[in-house]
Amino acid sequence: MPIFEFTCLKCGVDFEILFRNRNEKMAVACLQCGSKKVERQMSTFAGKIGNTSAGDAGCGSCAATHCGPS
Ligand SMILES: [Zn+2]
Repeated sequence: MPIFEFTCLKCGVDFEILFRNRNEKMAVACLQCGSKKVERQMSTFAGKIGNTSAGDAGCGSCAATHCGPS
């Protein structure tokens, strides 16, 4: 199941939503303030893959709430 990351344009909070089906994309709202003015972020996976060639990046540059072994 795809997980998408969003940023609320109203309160600025970042949140992730796991979609069970495509139709849910149309009903995304901020988890904090409920605003539907949210902006979907680019895939963090793709960005990180491109940046990991320099070696093990520490969590200091990692925007994820949970990185490392899961
Ligand atoms: Zn919000």
